[in-house]
Amino acid sequence: MNSSCLFCKIIAGQIPAKKVYEDDHCLAFHDIHPQAPVHVLVIPKHHWESLDAVQPEDREILGHLLERTAHCARELGVANTGYRTIINTHAHAGQEVFHIHVHILAGKPLGRMVSA
Ligand code: 5GP
Ligand code: ZN
Repeated sequence: MNSSCLFCKIIAGQIPAKKVYEDDHCLAFHDIHPQAPVHVLVIPKHHWESLDAVQPEDREILGHLLERTAHCARELGVANTGYRTIINTHAHAGQEVFHIHVHILAGKPLGRMVSA
């Protein structure tokens, strides 16, 4: 728990969120400013600032996070039509919240990957 982190506050229940899935290690909830008909964020309960902060010993929990992301996509009913997962890291990727999170974007054809 990082007391100045928005997503840690959501995990702690101090800020409300529309939850999709929760277990001991991760939480999924709808993005407050959806960029697609389905836009869900999947986060670990452990506070890592970004993908750049993870270490080899974190592999198991990050593997769990990714597997649960796929589970959420199936539960949201978008797995068959398809979805995009994004992890923004640091400034050039536009990371705004410094608690690692996986975006699930879906619900319509998303076009090509973001422009470079
Ligand atoms: P980033 O740009 O860091 O990859 O993505 C941060 C995401 O968090 C953005 O898509 C933004 O809309 C979302 N977000 C920011 N504040 C809140 C909030 O208070 N609640 C929820 N549900 N999403 C938020
Ligand atoms: Zn945090």
